[in-house]
Amino acid sequence: MPLKPFRPSIALVYLVLGGSFALLSLTFYVAGFQPLAERLREAHAEIIDHTLDSTRWLVQGALDRHIALARQTASRSAIRQQQMRYLAGELDLADLRAFATPKLRDALQANDELLGIRRLGPDGTPLLQVGWSPAPLPGASTCTLPEKGDRGSGIRIQGPFPLKGKQILVYCSPLHDPGGTRIGMDQLLMDAAPVQGILQNPHGEDLRTVTLGVVAADGRLLFWPRGEIYQAARQHLQAHLAGNPAGDGIHIQHRPLASVDWRIYGVVHTRAFFAETDRQLWRLLGLLAILAALIFAAKILALRPIIRALTQVHHLTEQAHRDGMTGLFNHAHMQQLIDREIERSQRYKTPFSILMMDIDHFKGINDTHGHPVGDAFLRHIARILKDWARTSDLAARYGGEEFMIILPETDPHGALSMAERLRQEIARQPLEHRGQKLRVTVSIGVVSCTGKAGGPSRAQLVRAVDDALYTSKRGGRDRVTQTVIDAGIPPGA
Ligand code: GH3
Ligand code: MG
Ligand code: MG
Repeated sequence: MPLKPFRPSIALVYLVLGGSFALLSLTFYVAGFQPLAERLREAHAEIIDHTLDSTRWLVQGALDRHIALARQTASRSAIRQQQMRYLAGELDLADLRAFATPKLRDALQANDELLGIRRLGPDGTPLLQVGWSPAPLPGASTCTLPEKGDRGSGIRIQGPFPLKGKQILVYCSPLHDPGGTRIGMDQLLMDAAPVQGILQNPHGEDLRTVTLGVVAADGRLLFWPRGEIYQAARQHLQAHLAGNPAGDGIHIQHRPLASVDWRIYGVVHTRAFFAETDRQLWRLLGLLAILAALIFAAKILALRPIIRALTQVHHLTEQAHRDGMTGLFNHAHMQQLIDREIERSQRYKTPFSILMMDIDHFKGINDTHGHPVGDAFLRHIARILKDWARTSDLAARYGGEEFMIILPETDPHGALSMAERLRQEIARQPLEHRGQKLRVTVSIGVVSCTGKAGGPSRAQLVRAVDDALYTSKRGGRDRVTQTVIDAGIPPGA
């Protein structure tokens, strides 16, 4: 039986191994890497949302605390009563001040963030003043209020203004008598440090998350964290507020604040954040690929001796089937091939033919030119056979100078014409020897089985083809004789 080609099987082993590692890496990428990266992006977006929301509530809390303080101050009824008396002309300004100033000073002392209070009359004239004065502040000396309160609180916030090394917010708070008539207003100077503090360090100086600021309705940047590292984000935000694109890889979001027309803005360096994450993930994937390649190489190394041994066994088996001189199959292996062909023909009811060929007067060649030339002739004939035979045709050196060829699925007609062509081919192609063109002829016997039920045994087949060959010899050599086995055993077998 001819051995199956061995090399493709080895290549297949490597292919399957390599393929499985590639598949492993791909699975890791598709089922692990990508969802992970996706999840990280979602988590990042959630963190940004959360940071914006929590900052909004913290800033809102600080402002609400200031507003509550302003309301408290305005609602001190004792001062208000004296103020109404003063406005009615029942009290002079010095008495009002003497009465109210200590009380306002108490309020100032009770509250660290409250730095100064100035109270104005309904016409805007200053009546009372404790702590820091808003007078040096641009635009803060006049505290304009709409008739109706601002966003429900009735209190308007101005600033922040720099004053004595601090950031100051000025809260303008209306003052009404019990009947609802406005009798003046308070200007409260509050330390803006709590608001700045919230922005300054909500999550450490971590640019990978978000830089937060407070922006007024008109687009002025009111609060921004201090420090060099926040400058780039500030420029992106300012570009965005001016209506320009913010920059590549920059994401800007905002949240409104209640009770004041300000917004919390967040500037996110999305690309900076994901560049690092992507780098990590790609490193991981690269590592996996290297690992897969290493395991692949290790497997190949481990498999090599086995493959080498198998190759040797394959080679030896192949050699055991071959004739050393011509490279054709040998007599012993041909027996197996004939058996297989008989079996196949009977199973599939297909025809096949067998040729037996003997060199005419070969002894004469040996005698005339010597044994080595005889050998060269045998190899010459084998070469012609290999060229002539179809790949599926199986040729063997059957005996000394006898050859046998199996022609699978070849009917009597085809076999006869092929045998004839072979005979002519051998007669036509000379062997070059010492400038001489030596030619031989061959006699051929052909047995063709039609494949019908009850085919011959191997022994019967060989005897029949031998007989056919003998007939060719007897008939004068250099010719073909064919026997057809149609059904059952050939006559005389
Ligand atoms: P014919 O077949 O036409 O009847 O004549 P023949 O001369 O070929 O006769 P036969 O088949 O009886 O002789 C076969 C000869 O082939 C005998 C032997 O010397 C020669 N022979 C067989 N094997 C080898 C071989 O391996 N090398 C060489 N050089 N000669 C061989
Ligand atoms: Mg012979
Ligand atoms: Mg012979």
